[in-house]
Amino acid sequence: MNIIQTNHSSAFICTGPHDEVAEFATDYLQQLMCPHRIEHQTTICRCNVCRAITEHQSSTVTWIEPTSDYVLDDIEPILTIIRFQLDDNKKHAFVLANAHLLSTACANRLLKVVEEPPRGYLFIFLANDYAALLPTIQSRCTILYQSPHQVPTLSGLLTFFTDPEKQQDPAGLDTFLRSEQPSLAETKLLVHQLVTVIDYDAYRNPSVAKQVLDTAQRNFPQAGGAQHYLRWLFMALHAARFSD
Ligand SMILES: [Zn+2]
Ligand SMILES: [Zn+2]
Repeated sequence: MNIIQTNHSSAFICTGPHDEVAEFATDYLQQLMCPHRIEHQTTICRCNVCRAITEHQSSTVTWIEPTSDYVLDDIEPILTIIRFQLDDNKKHAFVLANAHLLSTACANRLLKVVEEPPRGYLFIFLANDYAALLPTIQSRCTILYQSPHQVPTLSGLLTFFTDPEKQQDPAGLDTFLRSEQPSLAETKLLVHQLVTVIDYDAYRNPSVAKQVLDTAQRNFPQAGGAQHYLRWLFMALHAARFSD
């Protein structure tokens, strides 16, 4: 069963706040690709290899980071590069930042190469939250790094959907939304997290709460619609929790 071993050592997941996981991945790749980085692990390496990795200019690391949701065009370079056979001792890494934004179509396109990458190729998926990654990605990767820190906006926002006092404070939610302006990506993550942590027993109408979350997952907002959507979700869960 060597195949399983191979898979698991070439596709990884790192979860946590964006900058923290990006820094971890950069450091990890430098240790892997720089000939002498391993000798001075705690100090910054000034060599060309390491600098190129930090600046996302490396020929051996393809760093993909779309500003909004992934589209198939973002994935294409991977499929082009990976056709080339690497020399025995060479490595090439693909980093997919904000991998929680991978659509099912994009993930499907990647599954085969992630499952059985040609020799020397590896994948690193960076995501704010493990639960927000598609199960097809989760099942093909090993966790390389898990941050102890929650994404700050999210932990604050999440309390408005879990804490009984904050769930009765629509004005507090409004203030929070105006000051933090959660993005579409954060809104999606929030719902993914909420699905994992919600305590239906605390609801007067658990079946209504389940329906609300079902609807929420099937109707993610368009650009610019996050605040409206979050207010709707707040009111709908409020009703399910407190009304008869
Ligand atoms: Zn060095
Ligand atoms: Zn170096």
